[in-house]
Amino acid sequence: MKKRAVVDRKKCAYCGACVAVCNLDANELVETYLEIKENCTGCGACAKVCPLGALSIEEV
Ligand code: SF4
Ligand code: SF4
Repeated sequence: MKKRAVVDRKKCAYCGACVAVCNLDANELVETYLEIKENCTGCGACAKVCPLGALSIEEV
């Protein structure tokens, strides 16, 4: 089963903290939302640093 970060768009404030810690460049702030890309491994580093609890790791 593959894991992936999922963003709750109602909670995300586009601060960029999660983008800074992803060493795979698997997330990116685009104009109106945080995009999680296909190469995300679900490592969870981004979810740990999100100050608003907007990221969760889910099986997809
Ligand atoms: S779960 Fe890991 S690989 Fe996926 S976006 Fe977050 S930091 Fe990057
Ligand atoms: S760290 Fe959290 S609030 Fe900040 S851009 Fe990422 S998901 Fe959004």
